Amino acid sequence: MSPSKKTTRPAPSGNGSKPRNTRAPKALKKSRTRSPEPASRPAKDSPDSSFLSTLGEGIAPYPLREGESYMNAAQKEHFQRILTTWKQDLMEEVDRTVHHMQDEAMNFPDPNDRATQESEFSLELRTRDRERKLIRKIDEALLKLETDEYGYCERCGIEIGIRRLEARPIATQCIDCKTIEEIREKQLSG
Ligand SMILES: [Zn+2]
Repeated sequence: MSPSKKTTRPAPSGNGSKPRNTRAPKALKKSRTRSPEPASRPAKDSPDSSFLSTLGEGIAPYPLREGESYMNAAQKEHFQRILTTWKQDLMEEVDRTVHHMQDEAMNFPDPNDRATQESEFSLELRTRDRERKLIRKIDEALLKLETDEYGYCERCGIEIGIRRLEARPIATQCIDCKTIEEIREKQLSG
């Protein structure tokens, strides 16, 4: 019957509709002169993206799929897990501190030792206070998760973003609003 003609088209010039990747010429350097940006300013309590690996046994970053809707059930579950694990870690830490102080109390009759111990204690108390505040913020975040408010900037309403939230699960503002706030605070205090 018909000959096994596999209709191999004579390829016309070019291949298909893919636009050629026009390489940007090297002369495209824009005003990239001075202003060496402080790339990684050691911001106080902002954990980096490896923060997740420090939680519990470690939590893997969320495998984002293309076109997936923001704060869908899987994502909410992911952040609930992050927040509850973090909270548990902190509560254990608070417990340890309290027990440590109870164990050590009254063990130092020597005034010098006592002084050392007291400054040690005040440091621990401050740490514990910080942990308590964090736990409160985590609770607020968990509540927001329940009411579908989690993950949106409280100032402008846009999505805070999965990766930013993974680095800072209690973030309540998008990076832009946060930056503006920080600048404003600096101006006020400076
Ligand atoms: Zn915002």
